[in-house]
Order: sequence, then structure tokens, then C-alpha cells
Amino acid sequence: KLVSRELKETPTMVRVGGVPVGGRGLVVMAGPCAVESEEQLLSAARAVKAAGAQILRGGAFKPRTSPYAFQGLEEEGLKMLARVREEVGLPFVTEAVDTRDVALVAEYADAIQIGARNMQNFRLLKEAGATGKPILLKRGLAATIEEWLMAAEYILDSGNPNVILCERGIRTFETATRFTLDLAAVAVVKENSHLPVIVDPSHGTGSWRLVLPMARAAVAAGADGLIIEVHPDPARALCDGPQSLHPETFDRLMGELAPVALAV
Ligand code: PEP
Ligand code: MN
Repeated sequence: KLVSRELKETPTMVRVGGVPVGGRGLVVMAGPCAVESEEQLLSAARAVKAAGAQILRGGAFKPRTSPYAFQGLEEEGLKMLARVREEVGLPFVTEAVDTRDVALVAEYADAIQIGARNMQNFRLLKEAGATGKPILLKRGLAATIEEWLMAAEYILDSGNPNVILCERGIRTFETATRFTLDLAAVAVVKENSHLPVIVDPSHGTGSWRLVLPMARAAVAAGADGLIIEVHPDPARALCDGPQSLHPETFDRLMGELAPVALAV
């Protein structure tokens, strides 16, 4: 298989904008769950950049559980992301929810996110892969590691080697956390694949307090990076406020990660 370590021993490095992910160092992607306005996005982007994040995240197309919840600003959101990229100097990753959005998202984004709910949307994987853009592939809510790697295989098979895997928590019987963050998956992926793997402790826990220890643990486990939700005013967020960090908390977390990254 193209994803397997047996086929390729050296770690794959994926460039997002000018930022290398995988192979060496720790890359932090951060920003709001959803792009809500240019002011909100700019404020979040400036804060995460000042704290040391290298890549901006923000959803313009949102996969929401309820059809009545905020669905995202769509192309307007992509335009805001592109303007803020220029203003702040951070490349960005944003989700494509449907094959019909892939070309549009690829026009703007530095990397295309495939969400957990779409991990096995094989047409979407192939079309996103065919754009040649780096793909951030989230693990499905109830996907085994083998199924996740086979989803990545679809993208590699489409001729695009630039895949970043993202562990974001899976469904278990546990209810104290929103999902169960499977940090062992990081070590399993590292053993079996050359692809970079990052961790999303925001969706993985559902609670901003838990993001701090799980982010440290992910780095200790050998993750190549993190993707973290940060909002200038989490209490007023239109999406995922309870798991979003205040900019000051994010800044503190970045300080805590440095010594852990040095130790691994
Ligand atoms: C997100 O990153 O905002 C998101 C919806 O992630 P996931 O697909 O992992 O739920
Ligand atoms: Mn979210």
C-alpha cells in the first residue's frame, strides 16, 4: 500500500503554504471552528500567530449535526480567510464538505480538510486529492485505524502524496468527554505509515480545560502537530465555543508545549 511504511521508510513531509508538516518539529494549526466575520477571524489569526501558531484554521463550510445550526459563510468565508492570510501571513486549512465545493475551496485554501463525517466519502477523497492540494484527513468518528489509512490510500492513489492524518477522537461508551481521544493511534500510525499525523484535542475532548493536558500528551506521544480551536470570545462563538480556547489560554498552552516538544 502507498501509505505503508514498508513501501516508504522516510517520513513524508507535507508543505502547507510554506510550512512543512511531518519529518521534524511540531506544527500548530489554530483558529476558530467557523469563520463568523472578518473581525472575528482577523482577531483570532493575529492572536494565534503572536502565540506561535504556523497555520490558521477556520471553517467556511460546516458539517453541523443540526440543519438549524450555523452552516458557515461559504464562499464569503473563504474570501475572508484569503484576506486574513495576506494581512497576517499565515497559510490556512479549511474544510470541503461536498464534492461540489472542492474546486471552490481549492481556489482559496492552502490545504483542504476532509472532516470526520466524510472520511469514507470516497468520491470526495478522490476529487479533493485530484486538486493536488495538501489534504488534512480527519479520522472518522467510528473508523478503525486501518479504515482511516485506507481512506488516505484513496488520496495517494489519486496521485496526491500530500496527506496529513488527524486523530480527533472516536465514539466509545464514555460520556465524560465529547469523544474519546485515541492517542495510541498516533503511535500506531507512526509504526505503520510514513504520513504525518496531528491531533485535534478540541474535538477530541469537547472541553477547553481538557484541551491543555491532551495537547501536551499528544506532543509527548509523537504527534507531528496539533489543530486547536481558538476564539476571541468563546462564550459568543457560533460553533464549538465550549471547546475553544481564549487567546490568552492558547498563548499559555504554546509555552507549555515547547519543553514537551524538545523532550521527544
Ligand atoms: C472541525 O474541524 O471543525 C470539524 C468539524 O472537525 P471534525 O470533522 O473532526 O468533527
Ligand atoms: Mn469545530
